[in-house]
Amino acid sequence: MEIRRDPITQSWVVLGQREEHPENDQVCPLCSKEAEKQPALLTWPEQGPWQVRVVPHMTPLYRIEGELGRQAEGIYDKMQPVGAHEVIVESPQHDKRLGQLSDEEIERVLWAYGARIADLKKDPRFKYVAVFKNQGVLAGEEWAHPHSQVTATAFVPRRVKYELHASRDWFKEKERCVFCDIVRQEEKQSKRIVDVQGDYYALCPYASRVPYEIWLLHRRHNHAFEQPRAGSNRRNLAALLGRTLRRLEKFAPAFHLVVHTSPNTLSKKGELSGYWKTLADDFHWHIEILPIVQTRSKSYSIKEVYYNGVLPEEAAEYLRNLDANS
Ligand SMILES: [Zn+2]
Ligand SMILES: [Zn+2]
Ligand SMILES: [Zn+2]
Repeated sequence: MEIRRDPITQSWVVLGQREEHPENDQVCPLCSKEAEKQPALLTWPEQGPWQVRVVPHMTPLYRIEGELGRQAEGIYDKMQPVGAHEVIVESPQHDKRLGQLSDEEIERVLWAYGARIADLKKDPRFKYVAVFKNQGVLAGEEWAHPHSQVTATAFVPRRVKYELHASRDWFKEKERCVFCDIVRQEEKQSKRIVDVQGDYYALCPYASRVPYEIWLLHRRHNHAFEQPRAGSNRRNLAALLGRTLRRLEKFAPAFHLVVHTSPNTLSKKGELSGYWKTLADDFHWHIEILPIVQTRSKSYSIKEVYYNGVLPEEAAEYLRNLDANS
């Protein structure tokens, strides 16, 4: 396996055959007796039956050992797939989904997200730590057991890079964080807000890429998900996430969820430049949820430019009226 960079879009692409493990449908690799014997990267609680566990991915895209070996091949760039790839097992209960867990249990899953991001950011080889979740077969879920994934990479993923550049440009011009500005405007207009819990909002973004796209945002500025602001209450975020997922699951068979947090400044030696310098002021962590409601394969033009048949204002109204308690 190796990682190559597209010289035009600057996207990094992992290339090569992924190692395959013999599939055994009878045995869940996340909760079987065998699985539980494997060492974990994090277990909560430390003693007694576990509630949340983090384990190395069985067929990782990135590997922790080795050198990046970044090298040129003529005009091109490539490197070794050095990084980390982990699985967060959200519950010991095989048949539960994240949205069915209690607020307290979801808060623990969010805590595990933050703990793994913070730990992996100690490694200066990693520029970015991503936490994401694919739920449902249509979203490419790997196992039925409730889980999320963590990857640490020696590059910043392309969409995050766009966001970092755009946030910096906005800040340069206005001396304000674009995400804080979005929250203020959405508060005022309120038509795209789905739900509120404490200082956290769930809203359908103005230019939603897919029907019922939802972002979760903290109304107070903070660039790093893994460093909660003093006085911020994660239980509120957990409750909001639970209600949001219960709403979506009523009609969307699958979704992608991703946490966007700031990149790892430790990966930069010497003085910070470019977007790295102003991150703490201009970037703002958030969670994006992209439900999958259309199953037909998309035409070429739609892949290049998003086409969404549902206005976010209508989506928000529809979602607000759904029962979020069951
Ligand atoms: Zn299981
Ligand atoms: Zn902000
Ligand atoms: Zn984002």
